Amino acid sequence: MELSSRLCKRCLTEKLSAEAYAAVKEYIALIPEEKRTDSAAYRERLDKCLGCDELINGMCAKCGCFVEIRAAYAFRQCPHETPRW
Ligand code: SF4
Repeated sequence: MELSSRLCKRCLTEKLSAEAYAAVKEYIALIPEEKRTDSAAYRERLDKCLGCDELINGMCAKCGCFVEIRAAYAFRQCPHETPRW
């Protein structure tokens, strides 16, 4: 498979690879509940990422984080100059 065919602009790891998604989910499960974003806000954040040009292969080009992990921390913000969430 060519690299270009694997690039998925505006995809989350959930859609990219079962293995990567499992690792992301495992990481998120380790975040203490009081530090975790509630599920409605989490979905909202990811929806904003899905519409953002900085999302590439599940990662944010602004900070290099997997957005599913960054968005899972309640205290984190979108790193964009004009934050989306
Ligand atoms: S800049 Fe913000 S909205 Fe865009 S991908 Fe990064 S975290 Fe998501």
